[in-house]
Amino acid sequence: MAILETKNLTYTYGVGTPFEKTAVENVNLSVEKGAFVGVIGHTGSGKSTLIQMLNGLIRPTSGQVLLNGEDIWTKPKEIRRVRFQVGMVFQYPEYQLFEETVIKDIMFGPKNMGLSDEEALKRAKEAAHFTDLKPELLEKSPFELSGGEKRRAAIAGVIAMDPEVLILDEPAAGLDPKGRDVILAQISEYHRQRGNTILLVSHSMEDIGRVADRVLVMNNAHAEMYDETRAVFSRGELLEPMGLRLPQITSIMRRLRKMGLPVSETVLNVDEAVMELLPLL
Ligand code: ADP
Repeated sequence: MAILETKNLTYTYGVGTPFEKTAVENVNLSVEKGAFVGVIGHTGSGKSTLIQMLNGLIRPTSGQVLLNGEDIWTKPKEIRRVRFQVGMVFQYPEYQLFEETVIKDIMFGPKNMGLSDEEALKRAKEAAHFTDLKPELLEKSPFELSGGEKRRAAIAGVIAMDPEVLILDEPAAGLDPKGRDVILAQISEYHRQRGNTILLVSHSMEDIGRVADRVLVMNNAHAEMYDETRAVFSRGELLEPMGLRLPQITSIMRRLRKMGLPVSETVLNVDEAVMELLPLL
């Protein structure tokens, strides 16, 4: 069953001004309950605009977002509830930590949903455990945490709301490789244990290849591809519209092949030929 669908979803910034720009155009998606969807596409392709429409942060210029079959804008007053059901972890979410202590920060979302202090605390502790924040950190100020810990605290704040759909916009951006791996492993484990639907926006195709079962490729406001991860990555030439150069694509694809995903041999061979020629130039 589809938990989230879009019908001809379109968003235009600055309608009627000289700066008019259609950032998302006629996107039709169907996300099955429990799916893990990776969202890729070059900067400016419309990823952020799309995900902001999915949780009701911005209203489509035309088209629809359906959550459990219902247009989220049918009852505009209930849009707050939609934002709890479709939780969003923004890029660099640590900038949104503002409470005195880490635990209060993680409790903020659940309390905002109307849960009692007791229930919010229970949820916050579970989420902190999930994101591997040690109990002694919870009474500290968020500003005393390391970069990776702050990021995990911000993610815990959204997980604590137990959203049906969790959308993460580049959750590992700016972290070192170890920090990236930890975050990715936690998201993957969260998905495995809870079975919630996840949309993960990432520049790292390797990360997406590791965790997502479907991939959406955004290109110039359109959904260029939306298919199983294997199918998308087996057509490497389609990654070029994302602004990647051939050697980058092929090196990513070679790594994906090592991970057991099928990749286009044609592209790999071209790259190998280029590599052999390079020392001669
Ligand atoms: P991505 O997340 O893939 O980088 P965005 O959704 O941020 O893409 O942007 C899509 C397009 O919309 C880009 O051309 C961008 O310049 C434009 N855009 C984004 N936000 C605004 C805004 N607030 N006002 C005008 N144009 C915007």
